[in-house]
Amino acid sequence: MTTHQIVLIPGDGIGPEVAAATIRVLEAAGAPLQWVEHHAGVAALETLGEVLPEQTLDAIRERGLALKGPCTTPVGEGFTSVNVQLRKRLDLYAAVRPVRNLPGVSTRYEDVDLVVIRENTEGLYSGIENEVTKGVVTSLKVATESASRRIARWAFRYARDRGRKKVTVMHKANIMKLTDGMFIRCARAVREEESFTDVEYEELIIDAGCMKLVQDPTQFDVLLLENLYGDVLSDLCAGFVGGLGVIPGANIGNDYAVFEAVHGSAPDIAGKGVANPLALIMSGVMMLNHIADTRGDERCRVSAGQIRDAYNSALSDERKTRDLGGDLDTDGFASAVIERMAG
Ligand code: NAD
Repeated sequence: MTTHQIVLIPGDGIGPEVAAATIRVLEAAGAPLQWVEHHAGVAALETLGEVLPEQTLDAIRERGLALKGPCTTPVGEGFTSVNVQLRKRLDLYAAVRPVRNLPGVSTRYEDVDLVVIRENTEGLYSGIENEVTKGVVTSLKVATESASRRIARWAFRYARDRGRKKVTVMHKANIMKLTDGMFIRCARAVREEESFTDVEYEELIIDAGCMKLVQDPTQFDVLLLENLYGDVLSDLCAGFVGGLGVIPGANIGNDYAVFEAVHGSAPDIAGKGVANPLALIMSGVMMLNHIADTRGDERCRVSAGQIRDAYNSALSDERKTRDLGGDLDTDGFASAVIERMAG
């Protein structure tokens, strides 16, 4: 029987810790995966002299799939984000981040079940910044019709395939009439021209949209956002359901997919063995379901279901990491999940 080769990028900070815990869980579930380790980020800079080695990109191109820990990016100086480069180089244009309440994790909100879909390749992440003259700098927001259309198409298709009812675009087209204006015009056009009119559609100016989100996130279903808004709102939405330790993610393109948690390298807790591995475990579950959907390997769907049931059961039994009010460390939580798959 086939095993699926997956490129594993442990990443920086808490990355290697949560990646090791995730692999233990995936292996315990009997997922038919084989790991091929490559590096990116500070880890790659230290060993290979560059933050995004060509061999890492080639490995993903060859295998099609990767599971990735977070990579550190220096703030306000230094190299450009490895994560942004990776998404652009592999054209992973759709970031998908499901946000759901979990059993045993009580928050201010109940019944939250929404998905953030973020355009991953352009907007203010073009990295085109200039110093016009001393004390005056610019940052260029780039939007193209083709990228705006394809992310809208992806979001409507996703909504329809998963039985979701509504796509909400949040934008600032009252101010950025060309860039955000094009983003909403493309969403409207794709919905009409490509017959997605069975999916409800809504547009909100993002400032008012944020207020509505925090008042009642249960009124939202799929959020379609350009790059920066998607980045910010992913973390905002994480706060509804327990924080960054519980939000998985996928970066999907036409040819490749890279699965990673929404959180970063968390330097404040790195090396202490206390990070919550659940977000990366959930990203692994997304990857297994993706393999089942795209390669027809139903064994992966079975493993995904087992892991999901096991982490839900662990959380219900109050077996949680510190960020969720529990006392387990990274490995302790992975063990609690594994015990429940064995039982
Ligand atoms: P962060 O997500 O790393 O951390 C924010 C807060 O959440 C911290 O208090 C951290 O301890 C906590 N946290 C995050 N993940 C957690 C987990 N699994 N378990 C428990 N607590 C967790 O964001 P930051 O501190 O703003 O960024 C740190 C670095 O990560 C930066 O260099 C940034 O560029 C990078 N980053 C990388 C990615 C990525 O690789 N995809 C994403 C976001 C940030």
